[in-house]
Amino acid sequence: MEVFDPAELWNREQIEIVQLSRLKSAIVHARNCAFYRERLEQAGIGPDSLQSPDDIRRIPFTTKQDLRGQYPAGLLCVPPSEIVRMHCSSGTTGAPVAVCHTQNDVNTWADLMARCLYMVGVRREDVFQNMSGYGLFTGGLGIHFGAERLGCMTIPAGAGNTRRQIKLIRDFRTTVAHILPSYALILGEHLRSNGENPRDLPLRIAVVGAEPYTEEFRRRMEELFDIKIYNSYGLSEMNGPGVGFECTEQSGLHIWEDAYLAEIVDPETGDPVPAGEVGELVMTSLCREGMPILRYRTRDLTRFLPGECPCGRVHRRVDRILGRTDDMFIIKGVNVYPMQIEEVIMTFPEVGQNYLIVLENDGVSDIMRVQVEVRDECFVEDMRILQNLQKAIARRLRAEILLTPRVELVESNSLPRAEGKAVRVRDLRDDK
Ligand code: ADP
Ligand code: ZN
Repeated sequence: MEVFDPAELWNREQIEIVQLSRLKSAIVHARNCAFYRERLEQAGIGPDSLQSPDDIRRIPFTTKQDLRGQYPAGLLCVPPSEIVRMHCSSGTTGAPVAVCHTQNDVNTWADLMARCLYMVGVRREDVFQNMSGYGLFTGGLGIHFGAERLGCMTIPAGAGNTRRQIKLIRDFRTTVAHILPSYALILGEHLRSNGENPRDLPLRIAVVGAEPYTEEFRRRMEELFDIKIYNSYGLSEMNGPGVGFECTEQSGLHIWEDAYLAEIVDPETGDPVPAGEVGELVMTSLCREGMPILRYRTRDLTRFLPGECPCGRVHRRVDRILGRTDDMFIIKGVNVYPMQIEEVIMTFPEVGQNYLIVLENDGVSDIMRVQVEVRDECFVEDMRILQNLQKAIARRLRAEILLTPRVELVESNSLPRAEGKAVRVRDLRDDK
């Protein structure tokens, strides 16, 4: 197998040896900031306390609140003059978090990203168009430097400006793109509304990530553009993209275990979940100099996939991210994730690409409305057909989430589109 980095081919034993030694160094290094020095001292943890990577469990968690509390530079573990770049999280769920990188950090990150792209068949001959926002968002420069590191001509197209995106794809014969799921929709619809066939573009691969999407959505987009789509997972706290990535098997995302130590815990108790069960992903950066982060509670929900990947890489795989613990909403006592809704509605061929969940309270009880776009060709005059569709969707949703939402069918392109991360839930209840 051709790989970008020999570390991809390490066996479990090699991975664990490197993880343990890097974890020990990370602990020593983390003591350069007061926050971790105190945390680790209180917990009585030094490098000698660890005998295997599993001993990481003795280290206290770091939460998003901790990072916000240390903003902007409380977690710096090198002299400020060593820092060459900073990034922030998107702030999807509150105040953003800042992460500062040394030159080695940005180089390692670019290598990891290049490794991901190479794994799915991207080569230096490809033209790579990055359609995500640049600036503080890590999906810009993070992906960009990975593609450049691989030697691709890399077009920093940025987010939005759909007509120019399409022109660039055509003029420079773009073969690989990085797109947010919500933007892939916009791009496809734009082409179709102009009577153009998205399959005629020179694109062959798209890297799609930064927010959750379902398998059904991937298949639809692959079909629409006649490309292969690979799921890319990352978070600013762990650099950004390049943390987890699908290989060509498209069955789970490999986490690069030589750079990150991943755990999955019960979000309530913090204990490891039984093998294969869903829980919160907890991540430790093993090589970061500027701001090492130990046992970070990502609030992202997933599970480890059992067994080894047919691709031959031993680096553990996680299932596609189901959503964030913060995305969960409670209605009539039931916990619901937006992806559960997406999974159900996308199985209906009549349903278009976009939907919105609206939560309201009519003074008596909570109401959940699911607004679903219906494909133009299915938006027929015959009300009975639409009513049957509406009922069928409501029935299937009830089977999934055990309560019956009000399903509203709307015309395609009528729901709001996001150019950044999509907003799937609008909670208008005042007592939330
Ligand atoms: P924010 O948390 O403010 O959005 P980031 O820009 O750092 O900040 O985004 C990281 C988050 O984006 C992850 O923690 C995760 O919730 C989400 N995310 C990133 N990639 C994926 C993916 N492939 N699938 C699902 N969610 C993703
Ligand atoms: Zn694989």
